[in-house]
Amino acid sequence: MTPRAVPTPREQLAAARRIVVKVGSSSLTSLDGGIDPTRLDRLVDALAGRRAAGTQVVLVSSGAIAAGLAPLRLHRRPRDLATQQAAASVGQLLLAHAYSASFARFDLAIGQVLLTADDMIRRSHYRNAQRTLERLLGLDVLPVVNENDTVATDEIRVGDNDRLAALVAHIVGADGLVLLSDVDGLYDGDPRKPGSSLVAEVDDPADLQAVQIAKPGQASLGRGGMATKITAAAMASAAGIPVLLTSAEEVTAALDTAADGPKTGTAFRPSGRRMSARRFWLRHAADVHGRLDLDAGAVAAVIGRRRSLLAAGIHGLSGDFVSGDVVDLVGPDGVVVARGVVGYDASELPGIIGRRTSQLPPEQRREVVHADDLVPLT
Ligand code: GLU
Repeated sequence: MTPRAVPTPREQLAAARRIVVKVGSSSLTSLDGGIDPTRLDRLVDALAGRRAAGTQVVLVSSGAIAAGLAPLRLHRRPRDLATQQAAASVGQLLLAHAYSASFARFDLAIGQVLLTADDMIRRSHYRNAQRTLERLLGLDVLPVVNENDTVATDEIRVGDNDRLAALVAHIVGADGLVLLSDVDGLYDGDPRKPGSSLVAEVDDPADLQAVQIAKPGQASLGRGGMATKITAAAMASAAGIPVLLTSAEEVTAALDTAADGPKTGTAFRPSGRRMSARRFWLRHAADVHGRLDLDAGAVAAVIGRRRSLLAAGIHGLSGDFVSGDVVDLVGPDGVVVARGVVGYDASELPGIIGRRTSQLPPEQRREVVHADDLVPLT
């Protein structure tokens, strides 16, 4: 018997039962005209088509800030946070209304879900967001997600919707992620110059070092560039989710369910296994509040033997963290080897680090970072 061939990422995307589709600001809006109904309808046509084929769809849409510019008579994306938030406040409402009207053509209900970084970081929030999205999908509602820009401050912001989409794909347990922007994929050189060609498939995002990454232009309406798309694709594919990166113009082809999959864009092969939601947020979403410096023995125990981190293996620390915050665990060579939820406040640790558990008073014999709260990064 010949072994069954492993499906390609394109085949996996075509067969996916639940997908997250992300669209960028510049694919939906223009600077002077605000939301472009023709482009929005084309996107919605394709999403409704995929829904009709039996796939559950979550849309992550940027465009709140961009859609708010024209009504506020702003001629470019504001730099300061307060004006961005004001624009998002005006624009998100218009965006939601435009989607609602467009999906109504297919008798499809949408639900607006505005997330903050905290919803990804705090476990109770994460579960709550997960439950809401699950229920919406169960009720046949198509969730339209954005970052809650009107309240997110710079410090607690996911910032770009590419990473937000990868996080959402993980939260909903999607089996495909489609990132739509204004370029039709990843190029091995500057896409504006002749001689560069489209990379059709990426097996391992680490191979991409050689690829030239285009920076978002000055006139850019959104926040992300190719770099955030690659980060998002790497996050999702490392968690077992195949990713397609292409242009919004190609949305119909991108969502095609033909057996051999979409014939457009750059496809990322899922590399890792799906990991627990907790580990995923630790690795990708958490705000890091400090660092613990480990000796070589502690690195071996924590990474090699998956043990908890004890005070004895720590020889230094920095940062202003409290118990429950996320910290980086750094090896003797200065490389971050893991990330974990620390069980002590920074002020408690200097008195106990480097000391063996048996030398410590009973109330300080617990682990500094429990093995269950720790994710290796190497
Ligand atoms: N959340 C922002 C908005 O809706 C977009 C962020 C991004 O461009 O990635 O305007």
